[in-house]
Amino acid sequence: MSSFSFSKKPVNVPLIKTANRTIQTPIPAPGTDEILAKLSRHEARSMQGTVPLVWDRAQGFNVFDSMGNKWIDFTSAIFIANIGHSNLRLIKSIQEVLDQNLLHHFTYPSKIKATYHEKLIEFTEGEFDKAFLLSGGTEATEAALKLMRMNGQRIGKKRLGIISMEGSFHGRTLGSQLLGGIEPQKEWIGFSDPDIFHIRCPYPWVLEEYSSPKQFLKEELSKLEKNGACLETDICGVIMETFQGWASLFYPKSFMKDIESFCRINNILLTMDEVQAGFARTGKRFGYQHYEIKPDLITCGKGMGSGVALSGVLGKSEIMDIPEVGMMSSTNSANPIACAGGMATVEEILKNNLVVEAQRKGILFHKELNKLKDKYHENISYVFGKGMIASVLFKSAQTNKPDSLLSSIVAETCMQKGLLVVHTGRESVKMGPPLTISDDALLEGLSVLDEAIAERI
Ligand code: PLP
Repeated sequence: MSSFSFSKKPVNVPLIKTANRTIQTPIPAPGTDEILAKLSRHEARSMQGTVPLVWDRAQGFNVFDSMGNKWIDFTSAIFIANIGHSNLRLIKSIQEVLDQNLLHHFTYPSKIKATYHEKLIEFTEGEFDKAFLLSGGTEATEAALKLMRMNGQRIGKKRLGIISMEGSFHGRTLGSQLLGGIEPQKEWIGFSDPDIFHIRCPYPWVLEEYSSPKQFLKEELSKLEKNGACLETDICGVIMETFQGWASLFYPKSFMKDIESFCRINNILLTMDEVQAGFARTGKRFGYQHYEIKPDLITCGKGMGSGVALSGVLGKSEIMDIPEVGMMSSTNSANPIACAGGMATVEEILKNNLVVEAQRKGILFHKELNKLKDKYHENISYVFGKGMIASVLFKSAQTNKPDSLLSSIVAETCMQKGLLVVHTGRESVKMGPPLTISDDALLEGLSVLDEAIAERI
């Protein structure tokens, strides 16, 4: 991980005025330092470290500050605004709840709660029967962990083992971090769960050493067995991010199909973490559909609520109904505002064909990114992703090794030029524009990335 920190000192950058971008002040804009200082005084340090852009408003595919600067947003906040920032249907849906004077009802029933659950389940086209709603993605991971283990107990597994993947991210609460595969993030826990096992991620550079993804998986699983786990009796769940986050890396389809068969043969529940991949982001309703597999559970968040705090775990009744009444609940579960956000999201995706749009624009997006990869082949090692999610992985032309400094500098330069990308702190620059972005703004954003790379290599 790089320890890069963005410059807080305003820099006189070239001024820009296009239909999609405006840069009319030094960047960071005047006034930024005051807000940053206030936050650094009062907000936990761990929340800081993003590019120094003070968001004033966001609309469609643009983010604005209060000084008249306007960015093309390739972040969707963090893959939240799939349906576009400040979407009108979303605002109207929330407004209706506000006008009804129903801001909360704990776990009591309400019409909006019933309607949203129905719409959400319909949106899965028969794949899942029930949902348990929460507020953040990490809570959805915790709920999936609980369901996988309760199911393991129900069917008499000897141990409640879960298999996850090295390098994966599932959230920052205890269970999610134990499941996650990023070691430094887990040091604070002070112990590891002997029943959580990690296999390596099938990165292309790892697979090079194996005859096939199948061979790779076989060897990874046999390592677990050598370490004392009986795959048949000791494992009750497998959890995978649909794509590995920092690199937007999808795994080989055959690998996921083999994982699915392994789960079926051994009576293991398969959970796909769709927190980033769900709700049309990848050009499918849910990203796991690219693998043509049928997970038992999916966890959702981010784009599920388009900005309202909404997450959830979805599955078949026989799994979702394992916990007794009251054993799996949450104060804010299915809050009316969250349901209003979720409902507007589903409606907007369906009415505006955003799945097809994400597919179509995704082809354009990846075609152009691959052109950049060819153009800067000495500095770009890979472009990964599908649909409207992509990561460009930078390397040093001298050493051929991952170059996280270059990716951070490119992210900063993009910001100075009116394009917002996700700074991962690793060698990747990650991008996921709102699915509603115009083709014109998508191409303009990519040309800004091109300029930024050209200037910084
Ligand atoms: N799972 C994945 C794949 C994520 O990317 C994230 C957040 O980045 C989470 C889970 C956790 O979501 P949240 O930050 O809402 O707790």
